[in-house]
Amino acid sequence: MHQLKQYQIAEALERDLGDPGHPESTMSFKRVMELDESEEFPEAEVDWLYNWKLQDYYVPENCGGKFSSFEEFVAFVRVMSRRDQTIAIAFTTMFWSFLTWMAGTDDQKKKLSQFIREEKGTMCLAYSERAHGSDLIGGDVTAKKVEGGYLLNGEKWPINRATRSGVTFVLAKTDEEEGARCLSLFMVDKRQLDPSTYYNLPKILTHGIRASDMSGIGFKDCFIPEEMRLQDEGSGLELALKGFQITRMLCAAFSHGAADTAMRTTLNFAINRVIYNKTVFDIPQPRQTLVDAFIDMLVCDCETIGAARGFHIIPEQFSVWAAVVKYFVTIKLEEVINSVYVVLGSRFYMRDEHDYGIFQKLLRDNSIISMFDGSSVVNLHALILQFRQIAKYRSRRKQKTMEGIQSRLDTIFSLEKSVPPFEPEKLGLFGRGADDVLQGLEIAWEQLQALKTEADVDADVLEKIISLTTIVLEELDAFDERIANSGFEHGHDQDPELFELAKKYCDLHAAAASVHTWIYNRTILDDFFSKGEWLVLGLYRRLRPWRSLPNLVPKAYSENVAQHLLKLHQENKMFSIVPIQLAQTETQEEKPHASAELQLQA
Ligand SMILES: Cc1cc2nc3c(=O)[nH]c(=O)nc-3n(C[C@H](O)[C@H](O)[C@H](O)COP(=O)(O)OP(=O)(O)OC[C@H]3O[C@@H](n4cnc5c(N)ncnc54)[C@H](O)[C@@H]3O)c2cc1C
Repeated sequence: MHQLKQYQIAEALERDLGDPGHPESTMSFKRVMELDESEEFPEAEVDWLYNWKLQDYYVPENCGGKFSSFEEFVAFVRVMSRRDQTIAIAFTTMFWSFLTWMAGTDDQKKKLSQFIREEKGTMCLAYSERAHGSDLIGGDVTAKKVEGGYLLNGEKWPINRATRSGVTFVLAKTDEEEGARCLSLFMVDKRQLDPSTYYNLPKILTHGIRASDMSGIGFKDCFIPEEMRLQDEGSGLELALKGFQITRMLCAAFSHGAADTAMRTTLNFAINRVIYNKTVFDIPQPRQTLVDAFIDMLVCDCETIGAARGFHIIPEQFSVWAAVVKYFVTIKLEEVINSVYVVLGSRFYMRDEHDYGIFQKLLRDNSIISMFDGSSVVNLHALILQFRQIAKYRSRRKQKTMEGIQSRLDTIFSLEKSVPPFEPEKLGLFGRGADDVLQGLEIAWEQLQALKTEADVDADVLEKIISLTTIVLEELDAFDERIANSGFEHGHDQDPELFELAKKYCDLHAAAASVHTWIYNRTILDDFFSKGEWLVLGLYRRLRPWRSLPNLVPKAYSENVAQHLLKLHQENKMFSIVPIQLAQTETQEEKPHASAELQLQA
C-alpha cells in the first residue's frame, strides 16, 4: 500500500483493473480499441466501475459518499485515463454533481447522492448550444415560470452523455433581458418528466472519444418542477462559472493519464527497437526528447497536485488557479504527447502494430481535453480580466499578508499533511487578486537560501535552483510592470498580446508551483525527487521561451533523469512525482536492450 493514504484508492483500482497490456483485463488496450472501432458505448466497463463502487468517491463524505480530497480524486481518474479517456470521461461526467454539492438544498443533495450511490445514476452538463458555444449568456434555451415550476424550451448540443444520463444540469434563460443574471441552473431529473416533452438528438460522430454518447437534448414545453432549480433564479451564470473552477481543474487528470500511456508505450518501443546497432533510447536526440517530455510531466504534476490540494485551503483563489491548470496542464501534456510520437515514429500512425494502436487513439481522444469545459483561449481570457487585480495585490503585500501566505503554502504543498474538507461555498467569481503560488515566491526564495546550511542538499543543484528562482521573480516583476502600464479593457476584445502574456503567467505559475512542491516534499518523496536536478531542468524549460538564459544545466542532470525514467518504466510505476505502483505488465518482464548509461559526450 502506498505510504501516502490519498494514493491508496488509485493503487487499489489500478490493481483490480489489471494490466491494460493484457488482452483479457478490464479496459485492456485491446478492448478499448475494439470499442473505439465499433463506436459502441462502454456499457460493461462503466458497469464494472459501478460494481467496484467508484461512484462513492464522487460524493462528499457529508453527503453520504467517500469523497475526501481532490488529490485522491485526481489520482484515480489518472488510473482510468491511462487505459482509456473515453471511459474515464463517460464515467466522470458524474463530477458535474459538484454543482449540487456546491449549491443544492439538503433535499437535492440527498436525492442526488442516493441516485449516484444506489441506482448507478449518472448525469450530464447541458450548457452548450449549437449557435452559441462559449457564449453562455447568448443562449436560446428558455425556462418560463409557470405555476409550480417552469416550461423548458430549446436544444442543448453537443452534450456528452445527453442520452444516457438520468440527470441533466441545464442552463436556461429565466429572464428575457440579456445580462449576468438572465440564467438559472436546473438539476433536471428525467424520470420526473413527461417523455413526450423532451427528446435526444442523434449520436454525433467525432474523431476522438468515439465510443462516447455524444448527442444532445431538446425540450418542447417540458414542465420541470420548481425544486429542480439550483439556488435562486438568476444565479445560473455565477454557479456555472464556479462549477467550472472545479471541473476545469479536474480535467487535468484526464490529460495526465493519457500522457502516461503515451510515454509508456513509446518507451516500450524505444528500449527494444534497434537501429544503427543501438536502441532508439540510446540515440541522444530521442533520449533527450523523452527526458524533456518527462520533465514537463513532472512540472504539470506539481501544478495539478498542488491545485487539487489547494482547493481545500484557498477555494476563494480558484478563479485564477483553475484557469492556470486548465490552460497550462492540458496544453503542456498535449505538447508532451506530440513530442513523444516523433520517437514512436511510424507506429504512432498504425492502428494495430504497437500496443494495439493505443497511441493513435489517445492522441485523438486527448485533443478534446483542452477544448471542452472552457477552451484554452477562454481560460487565458479569464486570467487576463484578473491581471490588474493580481498585480495590485502583489504590490500591496504586507508582512502579515506574507505570514498568511506562508502558512497556507505549507499545508497546500506538504503532501503528508491532511487537508480540511472542501468548502465549495467559498468559491468566488473573482479572487480579488490573490494568488498565493506566485505571490509567495519570495518566501520560497528565502527558504531556498536557508537550505544552504543543510548537509543533505547538493550545493550545485541548490545554487542553480536559486538562480532560476531569482529569474522567475525578475520576470514576475516585469510582468507586473507591464500590466500596470497597460490599459484595462472589459469584455472579449482583448489585445492578442495579452494572451501571450497570460501564457507567460501560466509558465511562471508552474515554475513557482514546482519550487514549492520541492521545498515541502524534499524529505518525503523519493531520492530522485529530493535531489532536485529535475527541478533545475523544469525551471529552465519554463523560462526559456521568455528569457535568454545562461547554459547552466549540466548534461549529467539530463542523463540522471533518463535513468530514472527507465527505472520507473522497468518497475512499472507511474511517471509522476508520486510514482504509484501500476498493475504488472507482461511487456515489463522483457529485458530492455537499452544500455544503463548513455556515453556522455564531452
Ligand atoms: C467532444 C465534445 C464534448 C463536449 N461536451 C460538452 C458537454 O458535455 N456539455 C456542454 O455543455 N458542452 C460540451 N461541448 C461543447 C464545448 O464545450 C464547446 O465546443 C466549447 O465550449 C467551445 O465552443 P465552440 O466550439 O462552439 O466555439 P465558440 O464558442 O463558437 O468559439 C469559436 C472560437 O472563438 C474563439 N473564442 C471564443 N471565446 C473567446 C474568448 N473569450 N477570447 C478569445 N477568443 C475566443 C476561439 O478561437 C474559439 O475556438 C463538447 C464539445 C465536444 C467537441
